[in-house]
Amino acid sequence: MDIIDGKELARQIRQQIKKEVETFSRPPGLAVILVGDDPASQVYVKNKTNACVEVGFYSDQIHKSSNITQEELLSEIKRLNENKIIDGILVQLPLPEHINEKAIIEAIIPEKDVDGFSSENIGKLMQNKSFIRPCTPKGIMNMLSTIDIDLNGKDCVVIGASNIVGRPMAMELLNAGATVTICHKLTKNITAKTNNADVVIAAAGVGNLVKKDWVKQNSVVIDVGINRMDDGKIVGDVDFESVKDKVSAISPVPGGVGPMTIATLLENTVIAYKSRV
Ligand code: NAD
Repeated sequence: MDIIDGKELARQIRQQIKKEVETFSRPPGLAVILVGDDPASQVYVKNKTNACVEVGFYSDQIHKSSNITQEELLSEIKRLNENKIIDGILVQLPLPEHINEKAIIEAIIPEKDVDGFSSENIGKLMQNKSFIRPCTPKGIMNMLSTIDIDLNGKDCVVIGASNIVGRPMAMELLNAGATVTICHKLTKNITAKTNNADVVIAAAGVGNLVKKDWVKQNSVVIDVGINRMDDGKIVGDVDFESVKDKVSAISPVPGGVGPMTIATLLENTVIAYKSRV
């Protein structure tokens, strides 16, 4: 059984990017906007900023109070859209309820949408003509490329149908030649689907949801979940200990998808930079 080491793979990607950045005429610039004081968002932004600094990017961390208006946030994005030394703009989600998340995402010009969430970039992914692809699913495709699996014709189940993980993940797998089933909270009899899957991607946000009897012998399981349990412990969506001995490969939490998401954000910023210089 392979444990897919996302932490190590992400380290290698950062190392390669760092070398490449040394050859650039100016450092790629990434602006990360954080609105409010959500502790989890603060950690994610800090990790993204640290990664930028490590690879030699110019990093602009913008912290706004939770009572910022939508117009103020839109004008901040307009300013960054026009800023020549900024190649990528990322707005950390979720945003406060009084702000229309969709309007904010669409305000980022597609060339700088390094999260790949805008309609234009998602549309390109749907047509298999990608420019910038959402970080978490793209990072997972990279993880799958490191193990011995040909996705052509494979049965894949994605648990979760969010715009940022489940849906683009399904599209990535389809683009790679797989047959894809997307499950969500209204799906009936999920285990009948996962039991037949060669690959299961768990992105429901439910701690330890996927148990040993959910998965097929020798299948591949990728765990996207980051869930804080009542005792403060962070767990994935997969009950790792019970599942690991049945599968051929599995990603752990922590040290799996999480670091790959950030490494992929750096890759996307390099793509955005190259499209603009
Ligand atoms: P979300 O809440 O937006 O979407 C969850 C999806 O799962 C929905 O489609 C919902 O219908 C489905 N779902 C919920 N309960 C279910 C159940 N019991 N059975 C089947 N489907 C169910 O969440 P999200 O933003 O897509 O994130 C999902 C998880 O992945 C969270 O734990 C989040 O923290 C984590 N995440 C991790 C990374 C990373 O880099 N590792 C990145 C993004 C999200």
